[in-house]
Amino acid sequence: MPQIIDGKAISGAIKDELKEKVEEMKAEGIRICLAVVQVGNDPASSVYVGNKKKACAYIGIDSLSYELPEETTQEELLDLIGELNAKKEVNGILVQLPLPDHIDEDTVIRAIDPKKDVDGFHPQNVGALCIGQPGFVSCTPSGIIQLLKRSGIEIAGKECVVIGRSNIVGKPMALLLLRENATVTVAHSKTKNLREVAKRADILVVAVGKPKMITREYVKEGAVVIDVGIHRNEDKKMCGDVDYDDVAPVCSAITPVPGGVGPMTIAMLMNNCVASASMK
Ligand code: NAD
Repeated sequence: MPQIIDGKAISGAIKDELKEKVEEMKAEGIRICLAVVQVGNDPASSVYVGNKKKACAYIGIDSLSYELPEETTQEELLDLIGELNAKKEVNGILVQLPLPDHIDEDTVIRAIDPKKDVDGFHPQNVGALCIGQPGFVSCTPSGIIQLLKRSGIEIAGKECVVIGRSNIVGKPMALLLLRENATVTVAHSKTKNLREVAKRADILVVAVGKPKMITREYVKEGAVVIDVGIHRNEDKKMCGDVDYDDVAPVCSAITPVPGGVGPMTIAMLMNNCVASASMK
């Protein structure tokens, strides 16, 4: 049986560590405040926003909530971001994505002060990651690094294959693995012979957005498999991009869905919020 990488337990431990740190900071008179902005009322986004606010409350981070109507203009949203950038007491700004079609996400991301960009999406933070300088790192991939390290899985020198090249998961994941001294391959929808490429991996990270696409034909015996995908099928059961039942018997460690990568994203967001207080 493979090692089941327990994202729920690991994210819980990180949140408890942060809670303790925030208590110490409060004792020194330092408060942390995250502004959460949501435009429209997409039900999935509302759940994510609610979970982020809950995590803030648990850890002791103040949160300010801005729930704007769907018809909010880009100008209005940019004005709000400008105000939050200027507010000294706000350490972190999170604009929940996706935004309605009439608002350009890139423009909004660029408008956030990089020192308050706790999602790590601003080009300045992405660039800093690329050249190994300090900055905020996208939460899902940094959570995966924590999952590996805290599960005792060595990264240095390993063959890592990341399937998916999105700006929020695949690309920063590849850069983080490189920073940890892995040999990294990024595969994507135009990759030829994906099965052979994936089979090279000692650590295979899958972020393709296709339910159960990765079966054991893509996995080397004994590999570590990290499943970033989140899907809900017709009977409301959750699954990932990896066919868990098929892959688990051939790998040495695997993240389940739910309870693997998912809970780590919010834990790392909280980590970035705590870090933001020392980035003024
Ligand atoms: P995306 O759609 O932006 O990117 C998917 C990537 O997969 C693309 O780069 C594409 O080239 C590649 N791809 C698509 N089909 C492929 C194929 N047949 N073969 C090889 N590559 C292929 O998705 P994303 O935002 O990176 O998210 C990926 C998955 O992770 C989704 O299921 C998403 O819901 C999930 N996700 C989970 C978390 C979390 O907190 N656990 C966070 C972000 C995303």
